[in-house]
Amino acid sequence: MGRTAETDVVVVGGGGAGLMAAATAALAAGGVRVTLLEKDSSEPCNSVISSGFIPAAGSRLQRAAGVADSPEEMAADILRKNGHQSDPEITLELCRRSAETIHWFVDAIGVDLEFAPEVSWLGHTHPRMHGHATRSGVPIIERMRERFESLPNATFLDETPGTGLIRDREGAVTGVTARPHGAELRIAARRVVLATGGFNANRELLAQYIPEMADAPDIGARSNRGEGILWGLDAGAAVDHMSGYQGRDCVFDDGTRLTPGVINEGGIAVNATGRRFVNEERDYSQLASVYRAQPGGFAVFIWDQRIQRMTGNMHVMKEAMRKGGIAKCERAADIAERFALPAATLEEAIDAYNAGIRAGTDAYGRKNLSEPLEPPYHASRITGAMAHTQGGLRVDTAFRVLRPDGRPVPNLHAGGNTIAGLSGDTAGGYTSGNGLLVAYTTGMIIGRRVAASIRGEREPPGGPQRHVATP
Ligand SMILES: Cc1cc2nc3c(=O)[nH]c(=O)nc-3n(C[C@H](O)[C@H](O)[C@H](O)COP(=O)(O)OP(=O)(O)OC[C@H]3O[C@@H](n4cnc5c(N)ncnc54)[C@H](O)[C@@H]3O)c2cc1C
Repeated sequence: MGRTAETDVVVVGGGGAGLMAAATAALAAGGVRVTLLEKDSSEPCNSVISSGFIPAAGSRLQRAAGVADSPEEMAADILRKNGHQSDPEITLELCRRSAETIHWFVDAIGVDLEFAPEVSWLGHTHPRMHGHATRSGVPIIERMRERFESLPNATFLDETPGTGLIRDREGAVTGVTARPHGAELRIAARRVVLATGGFNANRELLAQYIPEMADAPDIGARSNRGEGILWGLDAGAAVDHMSGYQGRDCVFDDGTRLTPGVINEGGIAVNATGRRFVNEERDYSQLASVYRAQPGGFAVFIWDQRIQRMTGNMHVMKEAMRKGGIAKCERAADIAERFALPAATLEEAIDAYNAGIRAGTDAYGRKNLSEPLEPPYHASRITGAMAHTQGGLRVDTAFRVLRPDGRPVPNLHAGGNTIAGLSGDTAGGYTSGNGLLVAYTTGMIIGRRVAASIRGEREPPGGPQRHVATP
């Protein structure tokens, strides 16, 4: 028999959703005791790996930039992109609360977020992205963790993987089991929050639910193995949209990322035949499996000095350059030689693309025709990668975990990529920002709700007891 502990709320997973749920619960009135279990914070979670772009409609930062927007328009964009597959009430609830999430970061814990309208984003009809000046998820996670750990009612247990749920005879969740440094730990809790992310790093689950990406490079968090989803299933919960995911491209040889900007600003993709094969601006998430389906499983991105000047300062681009994933080539023939492509066909492909731009048309239907590509070029051999999964546990608008018949599993909440997200069943259903919108806003809603419900249990009927001062 290992150690035992007792708390009010236990959150499993110290990434974006888990830290947000833990911090908002611990900061809420009533001093609810919150214990957060993290498998290993030295491994970056997806919220850290991400560029940290959080979409929101109606934030004061968005308004100050002169953008008129509404949660209803944002929800309509997300639903249009996913073919109306995500739950419309949950979609609207998250969009309604999205601005509150941004304001919470700025006002409650002092994360310096700014409006980030610089890049065009999948699916959004208005600029909605907010991010840290570094365009990285790191400062957001660091600040939340610092704030959480500074609270007297908060306990952060690092290197403590959760191993399962504790349930009573009726099936109500009463705590979790964990394994800190190989030892057994049982934590009794009134509410359990599952925030273990998705299953991008679990090849067996990928083979079962997303077979086209089962052996794709994984650029997401290595610790996201779908445990929370599996425990929920074990507790009788339903799952939805398990085949939904965010795809990305990455450098073929080492999985380093490039920015979508190299394509969005006018770069092209050719395959091993030296020809273009797709409308490259179609959808970076959906295109991941298209790149993998090309001969040899790769494509070559080609962009020029103008685009390199616009994107080269981003940290992902510097990293790819440092690792040798981006080649600078004086002429098209050098690209052909470097990546073993037929030189004449490649030159024709670039010439035809440039001629199309001058004529205002594109053979593959690109709409955003910027400027012809001019030598010298930059080029990278890329393939399609798995970024994060979007399917998971079925929940209601309070993010309680639901059984197939719609009844909640008592005392169990889930957020972030552990729940069925906003992308529906496919990679093409992903609207940029669906990841962090869900992670941070579900975390905020869950944290406040669990704190309020525990406070309600403690308070006698009729509300909080008045303290009557005695002379
Ligand atoms: C390359 C890349 C770029 C992205 N860019 C963006 C972006 O700009 N905007 C956007 O909206 N989304 C983006 N996303 C998606 C976004 O990062 C995720 O959707 C989001 O971070 C999910 O948050 P989460 O809390 O569910 O998971 P995570 O942040 O991954 O946190 C899960 C945590 O749970 C822990 N854990 C797992 N199992 C256990 C266990 N058994 N016990 C204890 N702890 C456990 C993990 O160690 C991890 O810390 C990007 C993703 C990738 C991969």
